[in-house]
Amino acid sequence: MKKYFHLLPLFILMITINDQAQSQNTDNPFFKNWETPFQTPPFNEIKTEHYLPAYEEGIRLQNLEFEAIVNNQDKPTFENTITAIEKSGQLLVKVNKVFSSLNSTDTDDAMQKIAETSTSMLSKHIDDFYLSEKLFERIKKLYDERESLNLTIEQNRVLENYYIDFVRGGANLSAEEKEQLRKINYELSQLVLKFGDNVRKENNKFELIIKQNEDLAGLPDASIQAAKEKADAKGYTGQWLFTIDKPTLIPFLQYSENRQLREIMYKAYMNRGNNNDELDNKNIFSRIVVLRVEKANLLGYKTYSDFILQKKMAKTPENVYSFLNDIWNPTVLKAKSEVEEMQKIIDTEGGKFNLEPWDWWYYAEKVKKEKYALDEEMLRPYFQLENVIDGVFAVSTKLWGLQFVERKDIQVYNPEVKVFEVKEADGKHIGILYTDYFPRAGKTNGAWCGDFRPQSNMNGIYITPLITNVGNFSKPTSDKPALISLDEVRTLFHEFGHALHSLLQNVTYPGSASVPSDFVELPSQIMENWAMQPEVLKMYAKHYKTGEIIPKELIDKIDNSRFFNQGFETLEYIAASLLDMDWHVITDTQEKDVVQFERESITKMGLIPQIWPRYLTTNFIHIATWGYESGYYSYLWSAVLDSDAFESFMENGLFDKATAESFRQNILSKGGSEDPMELYIKFKGRKPMVDALLKKRGLN
Ligand SMILES: [Zn+2]
Repeated sequence: MKKYFHLLPLFILMITINDQAQSQNTDNPFFKNWETPFQTPPFNEIKTEHYLPAYEEGIRLQNLEFEAIVNNQDKPTFENTITAIEKSGQLLVKVNKVFSSLNSTDTDDAMQKIAETSTSMLSKHIDDFYLSEKLFERIKKLYDERESLNLTIEQNRVLENYYIDFVRGGANLSAEEKEQLRKINYELSQLVLKFGDNVRKENNKFELIIKQNEDLAGLPDASIQAAKEKADAKGYTGQWLFTIDKPTLIPFLQYSENRQLREIMYKAYMNRGNNNDELDNKNIFSRIVVLRVEKANLLGYKTYSDFILQKKMAKTPENVYSFLNDIWNPTVLKAKSEVEEMQKIIDTEGGKFNLEPWDWWYYAEKVKKEKYALDEEMLRPYFQLENVIDGVFAVSTKLWGLQFVERKDIQVYNPEVKVFEVKEADGKHIGILYTDYFPRAGKTNGAWCGDFRPQSNMNGIYITPLITNVGNFSKPTSDKPALISLDEVRTLFHEFGHALHSLLQNVTYPGSASVPSDFVELPSQIMENWAMQPEVLKMYAKHYKTGEIIPKELIDKIDNSRFFNQGFETLEYIAASLLDMDWHVITDTQEKDVVQFERESITKMGLIPQIWPRYLTTNFIHIATWGYESGYYSYLWSAVLDSDAFESFMENGLFDKATAESFRQNILSKGGSEDPMELYIKFKGRKPMVDALLKKRGLN
């Protein structure tokens, strides 16, 4: 996943060139130039009380900049309007990047409070911007004359994006309608925040306390040890504490022999936000959906999905449904055959029950052992986190000559964070990568790539990017280093792919960093392909104790098992994507019974009962909070792109220089500066085809 900080997608962050707002708050680091290496944020100086004054001043300064633009008596030019907007808001973007990022990695009640205030301030500020008639007038004039302005491809796209975003922000609405839109946006921003906060609290709330040894049956030592340490930390001496964060949940579902406890853990996870308590998200979500329909209608779109997809590679809801439906049928067939295999094991073992969703991981693990003789726990010792990181670095070195140098002199926001300087083969500085891989109480679940500053190059001033990779991977224990799972290895490569996309971007305008979500997963997902290539595994998968390279027999097992569980994984994903689509093609503004709507949606898609969608509505944070509404399909859409693109490497050579260079020039360096389909065609020579994906997942 790539997490966006949606608030100011088109506003920039540049190194502060003017010394603004020095008069007050002289110790507020946001009001100073950062005299740190590469002007990285001075985290040691940033305190909670610095954020709100910086937001206030940032908004005030940007408003002055907007005023200067609209009061400019000269006729609008690209430079005095678009470039001027792109340059504005430096302080605001600076504080917002740091705050949003830290609010996801190290939040607490004080940070949540600031988020509530800053979100409503920003929501109003953004509305003011998009509802400014004078600004729109200038942009519209430029847009109407764009053919005669001699713009570059990138300038043309930036201008078009502003024009469309203004129209989508309500620029063409009457005064009364604008006021209505403002109210909707404000209410949405509050609800969305509350939804996310509830999910976060739900993640931390659930505790399964095991008191008896026999209830640990089947669990790997590492899980038991971690649960014991967690229990000790909470004062449950002599007991074991299991939580529903993924690194705890998944091994529990895979290995716990206690069916009843598996059901409790699985349901606790799936029912987050649906417990009829103060963290319940049902009413919040149904209200969000109503507001989204109202917003879409106000702006002239039939559904919220139409509104969202206008700016995606997919373009329309019909295209998304037909894409998902094309892959649905072969996937259901595959999933049914997987159910059969597992039911056979249950029956042979004398279990007199039908496979249920909470049994899936447990019996899938058995199938894997029986059929592929692959026990994932056998792999962990070869996936020491540090070695995996070296692996992904080595792949980037072989492909593009990139170098990674750890920097201890750059300040971090948490002691668990590491900092790397990224350089070209010739030593030229590219940017900074912060890695932050372990779960903490204040961290949002999942993994993502973010930034403290995007790359840009306006008026000859090249700004280098500061990028973050955040995860919630298996932690070191008292007697072992961090040994991560196969899935976590893939996730690490995935987020690193996003980081490369941001690091190798070479565009002029900061606004060009914004990439449609159904294209943005191409650079991330393609990296996962390298992670599992035998040649690459030999480079990084070394036993943490002995340094022994992963044996060929284990590599063969990984390779043989690549079709394993693909029916399940693809189906639970498509089901969640369809659920997302169903919520966003609603045309009426009647509040819905969330559980009933969900049930109907699942029935309509024809999902088999042994599988639930990957997320249920009340904890589907991607579509409530993270900006993936009517966009969860994007990962699979991008998967078609990445499988198709990776075939070029398989054909020309895993580390073929020419193919790598073409991928860098046509995809990675371009950000969102050109139409994604055109960029893809420049790399591949034709439009993407679905065949490579079906073949890769064994669905053909
Ligand atoms: Zn991603």
